Amino acid sequence: MRSSTALRRVLLACVAAAFAACGGGGGGGGNNNPPPPPPPALNITTTSLAAGVVGAPYSQSVAATGGTGTRTFTTSAGALPAGLSLNPASGAISGTPSGTPGTSSFTITVTDSASPPNSDSQALSIRIDAAAAESHDVIVVGAGSAGLYAAKTLIAEGYDVLILEATDRIGGRVKSTTLGDMRVDLGAEEHYLAVGDNPVWPAITGEYGESIYVSGYNGAEVYSMDGGTNTCWTVAGAARACADDPDVTQSWDIYDWYWRTELHPDPTTSLADDVLYEYGVGVGHRAYHIYDAGFAGSVFATSLHKLGAQSLAIQDYGWDLSNGIRVLGDKDLGYSDALETVWWDDVVANSDLRLNSPVVTIDTSGESVAVTDLSGAVYLAHQVIVTVSIGVLQAEKIDFVPDLPDTTVDAYNGIGIDAGMKVPLRFSAPWWETEGVALGSMVTEGVAGFCWIPSDYKSGTTSYVMMCYPMGDNALALTGLAETAGGGAAGDEAIVNAILADLDATFPGEENPATAHYIEGIVQNWGAAPYTLGAYSYAMVGTFESADQNRRRDLQVPVAEDRIFFAGEATHVTHPATVVGALHEGERAALAVAAVNGNPGNPPTP
Ligand SMILES: Cc1cc2nc3c(=O)[nH]c(=O)nc-3n(C[C@H](O)[C@H](O)[C@H](O)COP(=O)(O)OP(=O)(O)OC[C@H]3O[C@@H](n4cnc5c(N)ncnc54)[C@H](O)[C@@H]3O)c2cc1C
Repeated sequence: MRSSTALRRVLLACVAAAFAACGGGGGGGGNNNPPPPPPPALNITTTSLAAGVVGAPYSQSVAATGGTGTRTFTTSAGALPAGLSLNPASGAISGTPSGTPGTSSFTITVTDSASPPNSDSQALSIRIDAAAAESHDVIVVGAGSAGLYAAKTLIAEGYDVLILEATDRIGGRVKSTTLGDMRVDLGAEEHYLAVGDNPVWPAITGEYGESIYVSGYNGAEVYSMDGGTNTCWTVAGAARACADDPDVTQSWDIYDWYWRTELHPDPTTSLADDVLYEYGVGVGHRAYHIYDAGFAGSVFATSLHKLGAQSLAIQDYGWDLSNGIRVLGDKDLGYSDALETVWWDDVVANSDLRLNSPVVTIDTSGESVAVTDLSGAVYLAHQVIVTVSIGVLQAEKIDFVPDLPDTTVDAYNGIGIDAGMKVPLRFSAPWWETEGVALGSMVTEGVAGFCWIPSDYKSGTTSYVMMCYPMGDNALALTGLAETAGGGAAGDEAIVNAILADLDATFPGEENPATAHYIEGIVQNWGAAPYTLGAYSYAMVGTFESADQNRRRDLQVPVAEDRIFFAGEATHVTHPATVVGALHEGERAALAVAAVNGNPGNPPTP
């Protein structure tokens, strides 16, 4: 024991001597400072973030400590909720949540400016809640003719109605604008008056007097044939009289042939098939475009080969509002101007209307109907009336929870809707009066399709306006041209130029008369309008089995235990594709809702 203690003393002395010899670092200069301490580690200290609310401003910060120099924050995995962004310098997350409610998970990484840089990452998430739900008796989706008339009917019954409209205006496919010094209609223009219960007629004549309604299409019909060389006029003594062209005179029979159901016995043929069988006119025949653009396009907003011959006959056998077509004969009054005055302003004043609120979800899994719009706002009601177009339903722009029954899905997929546009063009002179008479309407051989002259019936105007109506395949071809040109204003210019070229080719004799007199035009492309996606509904093969069994009637059937109702021009069995049909359907659905609700002024408790 003794000896080991002595040895330890010797060793300690040696260690002390050795340390002194090292001189505190071996530099020999007498600098004895310790090395600087390493910087504190870079560290994200935030471990959770507060929840946000759709539509409400949000601001939270991701904090970090340590590291060297400047810190930079990035989202290294996942994504922040829609509407929020990360400030890379401060780590602040801010903005206004705009997406659908839910939780977004992401990783934030902070990096310093050391060389090499240090970094730290933290997995985080933000829950976005729906805005506090608003509650109403009934919600109407879409502020077109059907939606506004449904709301009008429900308001009259004492109901508290919310209207959710996707676009920034009401009226849907009734839309007036100004060209030159006159109002032109980019959607519905004709009023169907005489037979049946048409609520438009008394409302408008009551406001503006009987003389507001005038006949349109006053003048000759013109048909372009054979590249313009045989364009004919329905004028006795015309240089080329249509009465002398058997292909044209034969085509006039179609109006007394297509709707006779017994003449279309095969439920699987298109109207193009039946025209070929009956008249010997098929694609490639010089007169095909008369049946195609002059009939299928101008009346049904599609192409001949897409119409179901028997379906259409069954549908139009019941048509009874066509006896008396009138237009508004005042240069300062369009269809939507008149409806605004007689009804719409009143409906807007007596309901809650949200524009720019595209509905994305209709959820009937709970006790109330929960309707969510694109901003994430949720609205509750006992019932909902959906008045969007067939195009919007087919594109499934609204998610129904739970799924709609197959009969409803088959119904909207079993009704046709095609591309279509209205293109009013203003000219410096009525160059079309080639035969010295006014032009009533014109069937062209190319993409313009069918055109007429609204300025001839708008009293007081000094403008010369031709309206062209490219539908179906013509509209698809023009839409393709517009896309190739890059869309927007360049796309519209491409459409106008193609129509002008068609018009130039229609009239023999003069050189490019349309292009020479052209001043300005408007392109209203309903097929490309995101919340219409088509012109108006038509009967395709299979739409009708009979007057009672058909897809239009199937779509009228309420679903989700009498909580979702469909209405619009497409649900009218005998007068689809009209404003008056849409009004009647809005009223039908509203009365059906009132019958199951029966308790106005009692919205669900949020
Ligand atoms: C070129 C053209 C010419 C026509 N000519 C005539 C005519 O001369 N005479 C005639 O009587 N009829 C005519 N029509 C038909 C007539 O315009 C329509 O039948 C009628 O306006 C349709 O009314 P609606 O309420 O059914 O649909 P719409 O008017 O389309 O209304 C539906 C509304 O729903 C909105 N919407 C869509 N999706 C959503 C969503 N997700 N959330 C919220 N809102 C949504 C739309 O923006 C729209 O406002 C024409 C139509 C076109 C396109």
